Amino acid sequence: MGLSSEGVGILRDGASGAKGGVEGVLPPYRLASRVRHPEDTRIRVRDVEIGGGSRFVVFAGPCAVETPDQLLATARIVKEAGGAVLRGGAYKPRTSPYSFQGLQDEGLKVLAEARRLTGLPVVTEVMDPEDIEAVASTADILQVGARNVQNFSLLKKLGRVKRPILLKRGMMTTIEEFLLAAEYILSSGNPQVILCERGIRTFETATRNTLDLSAVPVLKERTHLPVIVDPSHAVGNWRYVIPMARGAMAVGADGLMVEVHVCPQAALCDGDQSLRPDRFRELMEELRPLARLLGREL
Ligand code: PEP
Ligand code: MN
Repeated sequence: MGLSSEGVGILRDGASGAKGGVEGVLPPYRLASRVRHPEDTRIRVRDVEIGGGSRFVVFAGPCAVETPDQLLATARIVKEAGGAVLRGGAYKPRTSPYSFQGLQDEGLKVLAEARRLTGLPVVTEVMDPEDIEAVASTADILQVGARNVQNFSLLKKLGRVKRPILLKRGMMTTIEEFLLAAEYILSSGNPQVILCERGIRTFETATRNTLDLSAVPVLKERTHLPVIVDPSHAVGNWRYVIPMARGAMAVGADGLMVEVHVCPQAALCDGDQSLRPDRFRELMEELRPLARLLGREL
C-alpha cells in the first residue's frame, strides 16, 4: 500500500491498462476502477441500454408520484417525446418532516401501472433498507438519493439485490468518496451501478447546487460505470435545466435525469425545477441535433 501525490491509498498490483489515472496502480475503488475493467459497463433494463457511449438515455418524470392521473399523464409525455426511463419518487427524502413524504406503497403501484401502459422501465428511490424488497419487486432500477450516498448499510444490502442501482452523488461527496460508495454495492455482489452527478454544495446561492460537469470526464476516466447527469436537482430552476442538459451531453454523459411535471406550479415537490411538458419536448428537440453531431443516439 502506498500513497499517491493526492494522498490516495493505492495498491500496486502490477495491473496495467489504466485509462487515465496512474497506469498499473489499482485505486481503492478496485472494482469500480477502469484499471482491471477497461471496457464500459453496459446495463440493460428491458430494451434500454445504459452506458457504452452510443445511446444517450433520458430518465424523466415527476419528483414525486402524486396521483395516478398525474403520473400516467407525465409517463405518456415522457414516452412520446423520446424519454427512455420513467422516474417518480414514492418514498421521498424531504428536508422537513412536515413536507409531503410520498405515496409510498401506493406510489409503487402507480409506477407499475405507468410501466404497464407505456412500456417504460421505472426508477424510484429507496431510503430505508426495510423497503428494499417492496421497491425491488416493482422498480426496474433502484435509486439511492444524494442524502444516502454514504449510508453504507443500505449500500451493502443493495449489493444483494438483482436490480441496477442508480447512485446519486451526495452534495458534499468527493469523486473518490462517490466511487467508494459505488464500491460498497459492487463488492457486496451487485455489478450494476449507474452513477449520477446531481450538483454539489458550494458558496454559490444563485442555483440550488453547483452542477459539477467536470465530474463527468473525471468519472468516465476513472470508472467503467455509466454516468448520468441530473441538472434539475443541480440548478433548482427549470430555466437552467435545458442549457445544463446540453452541457451534460457535450461532456460525455451517458444520459440525463430530469424532472417533468404536468403542472409545476401545483407540484407537491420540486415544482420550481420541473419542466412543463412543452419544455420537456423542447429539451428533447434541442438534444437531437447535438446528439447527431456527437454521434450519439437519443
Ligand atoms: C430525487 O431525485 O428526487 C432526489 C431527491 O434527488 P437527490 O437525492 O439528488 O436530492
Ligand atoms: Mn426532486
